[in-house]
Amino acid sequence: MTRRLRNRLTAAGLDAWATILPTECSGCGALDRALCPSCRLALRPAVHPVTRDDALVWAALTYEGVARHVIGAYKDGGRTDAAAALAAPLRAAIAAALTAVPSVNGGGIRLVTIPSSRRAWRLRGYHPVDALLQRAGLHPVPALAQRGESVDQVGLGRAARAANKGNSLVARHPLTGTRVILVDDIVTTGATLLEARRAVFAAGGTVVGLATLAETRRLLPPYSHSGQTDRQIL
Ligand SMILES: [Zn+2]
Repeated sequence: MTRRLRNRLTAAGLDAWATILPTECSGCGALDRALCPSCRLALRPAVHPVTRDDALVWAALTYEGVARHVIGAYKDGGRTDAAAALAAPLRAAIAAALTAVPSVNGGGIRLVTIPSSRRAWRLRGYHPVDALLQRAGLHPVPALAQRGESVDQVGLGRAARAANKGNSLVARHPLTGTRVILVDDIVTTGATLLEARRAVFAAGGTVVGLATLAETRRLLPPYSHSGQTDRQIL
């Protein structure tokens, strides 16, 4: 074996190890850890209710600092190894939403997530929230679909996000009598969850709770939301 070939093989081996063994903490960048102990501690759920428009959303984390880094790395940095640490807080937020449902008897409650855009599927190859739910031993129902391709929400203000999301989701099948907890990763303005709630209601279902992994602070003034069909829950 020539030295050159040996060097190439060694480099390929190192690349392979880097793929399966993350070399830095996805929260703070510390070397040789998937998630260091202090960042793991920062991801302990602190479930709290937040309001967006007339909706109450249960969020496990605040989208800042370590949580922001880890969630960003998980969603858009290929750090799927962070799933285990993020599944627990999401599960805690769902548990809080479930506990807040006035009456749980008389039938099950379905967990419904927001469908990814085609672009997001192409980029990621997986659905971040569905993957976390599966990691938590929960099974989302694919009840909603994207009606058309809406543009990316990043960088849009509250009113623009709401307009962008208007009627962007549709139920895949009738949801008559179905009770739903909507689950998403991050709630910012709430436009996405409110649109999902509208779509569930339009198909005959009822949204009995909203749960997210994290929430961002509201930085923009509230806008007037007047959708008649959004008034049925919480
Ligand atoms: Zn760390």
